[in-house]
Amino acid sequence: MSEFPTWQQGIRQDYPPLRGLCRVDAVVVGGGLAGVTAALMLSENGVRTALLEARALAEGATAGCAGMITCQAIHALTTAARTRDMAVVRSYAQLMREAVTGVIALAQRLPQPCDITACDAFAFAETEDDLPALHRLMALERELGLPVAEGTDAGGCPFPVERSALMKHQGLLSPLPYVLGMAEAAALLGCQIYEQSPVRRLEGHRLTTPQGVVEASWVILCTGAPLDCHDRSLLALMAPRLRELRLLTSAAPLHSAQLSVHSDEMTLRPCQEGLLMTWDRGAYGTDQADGAALIRDRTLRALLPESETRQVILRREVFSRDGLPLVGPLHPRDSRLMMATGFGGLGLTGSFLAARLLTGAVIGRPLPESPLFLPFRRYPGRSAFDRTALLASAKAFVHGLTSPGTPKCPHMGCPLRYNADSGLWECPCHGSSFDILGQVEAAPAIQDAALSPRDRP
Ligand SMILES: Cc1cc2nc3c(=O)[nH]c(=O)nc-3n(C[C@H](O)[C@H](O)[C@H](O)COP(=O)(O)OP(=O)(O)OC[C@H]3O[C@@H](n4cnc5c(N)ncnc54)[C@H](O)[C@@H]3O)c2cc1C
Repeated sequence: MSEFPTWQQGIRQDYPPLRGLCRVDAVVVGGGLAGVTAALMLSENGVRTALLEARALAEGATAGCAGMITCQAIHALTTAARTRDMAVVRSYAQLMREAVTGVIALAQRLPQPCDITACDAFAFAETEDDLPALHRLMALERELGLPVAEGTDAGGCPFPVERSALMKHQGLLSPLPYVLGMAEAAALLGCQIYEQSPVRRLEGHRLTTPQGVVEASWVILCTGAPLDCHDRSLLALMAPRLRELRLLTSAAPLHSAQLSVHSDEMTLRPCQEGLLMTWDRGAYGTDQADGAALIRDRTLRALLPESETRQVILRREVFSRDGLPLVGPLHPRDSRLMMATGFGGLGLTGSFLAARLLTGAVIGRPLPESPLFLPFRRYPGRSAFDRTALLASAKAFVHGLTSPGTPKCPHMGCPLRYNADSGLWECPCHGSSFDILGQVEAAPAIQDAALSPRDRP
């Protein structure tokens, strides 16, 4: 299994590790889509910014991104419509619609070409059984003011579909050159970018990496789950999931289009080498993910019998339980310690929206919709979901205490589970992960896990 997607080319600049003391107005932690978009927008608005990335830019969830730019946010919109007021969901849908235009315009002016293409997006019902769900989706999108039309075609889909919901004026790009191009543009505006600079300690607005220290008025955590976060309500609002990106050869090339089954479980798009498929494998760090892999293999054999898998990339992505991104201060006590995550499978448009919200807060021009995305928000039904999520994590925690041989997550002590497919130790409670030597790969954990030689797979 290869680690970085081969289907896209990007010209990497070498950014050094942080050494010594760096004082800036804002420090962004995490060099994925969210962090790099925020760093660029802050720099464009005259904010002295530094960006710290633990490894290399775009190696986290962003390496799995298939590059579909869309506001056909099926999972996010249907989840939000179940848990939030319609007025709130409508504002979110409109901001996402603006973000599609924003991402396309931004991609066109970057120093690196990133294969930006305009295209239609189709959500499709594969069989008659899927039709009611597709019609519910279309009714919701119409109610939210999104331009959706019904059809029988699905952009040259290589297998027959029953019915589709068409949204025009969406887009495709290659995420790696997009991220590297944004970083290059930010650096030209004076943003200090540091790679191989994991934040190991976070004390107020002072951040320590192995060789340096950053002091900043604003700290913005774009690390998937926020670093070293122990707030149980906030942790319970996040839902880490395991998702896969698969590069397939295909006998019948798809037109320029993006396709999703109505539940967003599977998406398809064309690329130069064939087809890109994404698949949701279930809650992170659990057995669910193995079952999903079997279903995916069966579906692939049935729908695309002639395709062959060239590459598989597995990544954790943090969703929110109410469908809306989590962007803004982590808690009301400190409005200058902010975070951005929970894009529900839509990191391109979600990161663009997050960067607008974060930059607005830093330059004193907040968007009127900012309160909708506050990470410490309350919403109807919260107590019910809180109980379920907290019970699940308490159960995992107790299991860890009663199984002395199991490696534990240094974040809050949950037992880790080894995933042979990704080659990582994964935390089922809050989504941290560690390589086979115990080195932390994904937050909220900030420290390495203590693994003994007998824990080596
Ligand atoms: C398979 C798959 C397909 C997808 N397809 C699409 C798509 O077609 N369209 C779309 O819009 N979205 C898509 N997404 C979603 C999108 O990729 C994500 O929402 C987005 O990449 C999240 O970006 P991020 O910056 O929040 O997180 P990440 O990319 O995970 O970035 C977080 C960064 O923080 C760094 N970090 C962590 N801890 C530290 C530390 N202590 N110090 C410093 N740095 C640290 C990590 O190394 C990482 O680089 C897809 C996601 C997946 C997994």
